Amino acid sequence: KKWFGNINSELERMKKLVDDLLFLARADAEDEVPKDYFDLSRLMNKIYDSFIPLAKKKNIDLTLDNKDNITAYGNEFRIKQLVTILLDNAIKFTESDGKIQLKLEPGLSMSQLTIKDTGEGIPKEHIDKIFDRFYRVDKSRSRNYGGSGLGLSIAKCIINEHKGSIKIVSEVGKGTEVVVSLPNG
Ligand code: ADP
Repeated sequence: KKWFGNINSELERMKKLVDDLLFLARADAEDEVPKDYFDLSRLMNKIYDSFIPLAKKKNIDLTLDNKDNITAYGNEFRIKQLVTILLDNAIKFTESDGKIQLKLEPGLSMSQLTIKDTGEGIPKEHIDKIFDRFYRVDKSRSRNYGGSGLGLSIAKCIINEHKGSIKIVSEVGKGTEVVVSLPNG
């Protein structure tokens, strides 16, 4: 039973790796993803709801500060993938009893999405490199949670194809704040 469990989690890890590699290969080859107006506030509520069980499992206090009717222009599926990557990381790198604050704010031409965690933080010398493919700060440890170091390069790719921006401010031992700006139209 234990072996089957191991095989299963290894299969899941490999499936995720193949999906991530395919995403990047396609993103390199494709011209543009289809875009439309969509309700970003509603999407944020949905993502938040889907992460509650994961946060609870680690006893992390996950909160959402959202406003109604914030519209974005882009590919809803990809934006969901982007927020999922960032929230996944926040949960992975935040210890039990930590806190994660998710916030969506409207702006004149861009909406701002903030994910702030009280996790382990990222050392300054690594910040510029974490968007590189396969880059992980702690390679030995990251094997335990199945990280391949592709998440943030995919996130960056999605942000670029939406002409948005991403900024990371982090302090070791204190936490990380990721701010994403996405165009309204
Ligand atoms: P993965 O999570 O699969 O390792 P990513 O590309 O998503 O790959 O992230 C790259 C690295 O950046 C991670 O291995 C981790 O060291 C660091 N990192 C990303 N997000 C956070 C965060 N919220 N807190 C601390 N470290 C982070």
